[in-house]
Amino acid sequence: MSRTDRREESVNSGKLSLYDVIIIGSGPAGYTAGIYTSRARLKTLLITGSLPGGQLMTTSEVENYPGFPNGIFGPELMMNMRQQAERFGAVAVDDEVIKVDFHRRPFELTTNIETYKAEAVLICTGASPRKLGIKGEEIFAGRGVSYCATCDGPFFKGEDIVVVGGGDTALEEATFLTKFGKSVKIVHRRDSLRASKILQDKAFENPKIEFLWHNVVIDIQGSKKVASVVVSDVNNGKVKNIPAGGLFVAIGHDPNTHIFKGQLELDEKGYIVLKGNSSTSIEGVFAAGDVHDYRYRQAITAGGFGCMAALDVEKWLLEHQHHAQDRENLDTSNIYRST
Ligand code: NAP
Repeated sequence: MSRTDRREESVNSGKLSLYDVIIIGSGPAGYTAGIYTSRARLKTLLITGSLPGGQLMTTSEVENYPGFPNGIFGPELMMNMRQQAERFGAVAVDDEVIKVDFHRRPFELTTNIETYKAEAVLICTGASPRKLGIKGEEIFAGRGVSYCATCDGPFFKGEDIVVVGGGDTALEEATFLTKFGKSVKIVHRRDSLRASKILQDKAFENPKIEFLWHNVVIDIQGSKKVASVVVSDVNNGKVKNIPAGGLFVAIGHDPNTHIFKGQLELDEKGYIVLKGNSSTSIEGVFAAGDVHDYRYRQAITAGGFGCMAALDVEKWLLEHQHHAQDRENLDTSNIYRST
């Protein structure tokens, strides 16, 4: 039976799967939440999204996740988290939520192949780093091009490094990278910075940091890894080749919240607005990780937020006595498992 047939059959039959909690997203926040809710014996469905495991699936070694003194590869860490959630009964499906209905409870979530119902929903869809969209960016991702200095900085000891951007992240990352790199060049498209004064002062005072104003990165060159970055002056089009072993792109993140527009309160940048702890503007809908947190954005902090949100979900369900397993006519036979 095709995915479309399966979905049509489940909708037509009216037998929609009902869960205590559905977790959307499978980064550290989602998987950690899944471990906690399933261990608390809540009937848990985890819908992984289009990139199961999230941003860490595209990272190489993770050196700063506690418990792994010799580091661990991002994909291995995420597979471990998934197995840990499944061990306690969470059902993980590799599918993408394309529509949500938070207007009534149980809430309804539609994926590419199925419609599910849940008493509570926990959103852990994360954020995606903005890309430059230039030649070489994809090819050199993980081979000199990075979107996270905290994650990858220590791999660039003694290298010349280029950072793109003029916001808080770019300046904070550039300052952090001077601990490892021989030199750090900040390439910014204007001649004034968006970053806070304190971060600007720190960067200006740092002898290893140099600014290249009015420039944009147009190409990345190298063979096995990045060897140089090509920039162009926005005023006169003059092109320059800067030898560098690393390019850190710090031009902001976009939260993955487009499907929640009009259903939940989002801030002007699209991040979910929390109403105390992990609650959102809709009672029974919670959020955790980079989808609301634009400040820390670490695997360990996302995991921590996931844990907190799972405990909030558990408490809320208990107080409201919403338990899917207590309901009659529960049908879970049509769960699509891809694992
Ligand atoms: P941001 O404030 O949106 O800044 C993005 C920067 O990248 C801007 O300077 C922008 O240039 C530049 N940019 C955007 N698209 C570009 C492109 N295609 N090519 C070249 N340059 C491009 O993002 P952020 O720095 O990641 O900060 C996000 C939020 O987190 C902010 O609210 C920030 O205050 C907060 N944050 C706070 C801290 C802290 O307090 N320690 C640390 C990190 C982040 P223009 O200036 O020309 O638009």
